[in-house]
Amino acid sequence: MDTTEAGARELDLGDPGYRDRFAVPPAEGGGYPETAYFAGNSLGLQPRAVRAELLEDLDDWARLGVEGHLEARRPWLPYHSLLTETAARLVGALPSETVIMNSLTVNLHLLMVSFYRPRGRRTKILIEDSAFPSDSYAVRSQARFHGLDPDTTVVRLDGGEVLDFLAREGDTVALVLLGGVNYLTGELLDIPAITAAGHAAGAVVGWDLAHAAGNVPLRLHDWGPDFAAWCSYKYLNSGPGAVAGAFVHERHHDNPELPRFEGWWSTEEATRFEMAPVSRPPSTVEAWQISNPPILAMSPVRTSLRIFDEIGMDTLRARSLRLTGYLEMLLEETLATRPVTLLTPREAERRGCQLSLRVDDAATIARRLRTEHGVCADVRNPDVVRIAPVPLYSTYHDCWRAATALAAVIGGRP
Ligand SMILES: *Cc1c(COP(=O)(O)O)cnc(C)c1O
Repeated sequence: MDTTEAGARELDLGDPGYRDRFAVPPAEGGGYPETAYFAGNSLGLQPRAVRAELLEDLDDWARLGVEGHLEARRPWLPYHSLLTETAARLVGALPSETVIMNSLTVNLHLLMVSFYRPRGRRTKILIEDSAFPSDSYAVRSQARFHGLDPDTTVVRLDGGEVLDFLAREGDTVALVLLGGVNYLTGELLDIPAITAAGHAAGAVVGWDLAHAAGNVPLRLHDWGPDFAAWCSYKYLNSGPGAVAGAFVHERHHDNPELPRFEGWWSTEEATRFEMAPVSRPPSTVEAWQISNPPILAMSPVRTSLRIFDEIGMDTLRARSLRLTGYLEMLLEETLATRPVTLLTPREAERRGCQLSLRVDDAATIARRLRTEHGVCADVRNPDVVRIAPVPLYSTYHDCWRAATALAAVIGGRP
């Protein structure tokens, strides 16, 4: 394989991706006009189509005032439903199982209200030891909310220990709540196998897909977890703090026993303006909606999901495997000769697009990548640098720049 800069340019000609659809930030240093952007796992880049469509929604508000609820180009009353089909296809779910609402941790809480129901011996919540802190705080606060001690209720395991624990002590587990792709290591867990094992043990299974949605193909309906949630500002490129997604499997839609927090958006749309004192929830995940959604924040999600829908997750995953494989190949020499190790699994089917490097003083490494080389990676203190080639907008040349810059800044010349 040709590892030169010219070789990278050549690969880009043959496998160009979709970069022209995105606004790529200018580079600070490194002698190239654009940043080599590898932080799409933290905040995805802006699709160029977002601005014009958001302006249309703003104009409708200016032009119509309250009438926009029904008369806007994209009426606000059913606006969320314009996002449902594309979101459902993205995660492999039925439209009735998928809704865009709230933010990720809020959705996890709302879903745990329904699906974390400790009883007798069965009280534990399994999470990964390297869970994202928000998920840890969420499950600990749920334990406390039920009057339980979070230190004994929340069990933190390595991804590889989950199946063993379920086999040994599954009858104590109320909820398995794991990240589909781990935010720190980039490891993709075997979602169908863990879901099946959790169910076999009698537990409820939910997935946090923050790093999986838009990164790897998902088949939530067939894999059968009880619920899932994800954010839209990472791989889904829908803007900082973007409105998140939620999935509830259809087998739960008609269960009157399930507790749920409701508001006026939980009731059947046709009955919403009857202003009745008692809700009539639809038998879909929309019953978990509470408030009317922020239309101006939904707009970029709508635009961005359409891009995934047009291209398709299988096409994106195929390109992702090529890009990340190429970056890994370019990093081999640095890994062999410098004090840095790869945290991410080597097997392509056990990871998404992200490669995580363990290296001393990751913050300095990342700062130098940015200021001296125009390469934007991100840091999880104290010792992890995460590099995510995103198949929509990253290029082989970006990967070449990242690998070359890493070789220069890790134990190399100043
Ligand atoms: C990014 C991320 C979050 C962030 O939570 P918000 O509610 O969107 O602020 C939570 N959990 C995981 C696993 C994440 O990767």
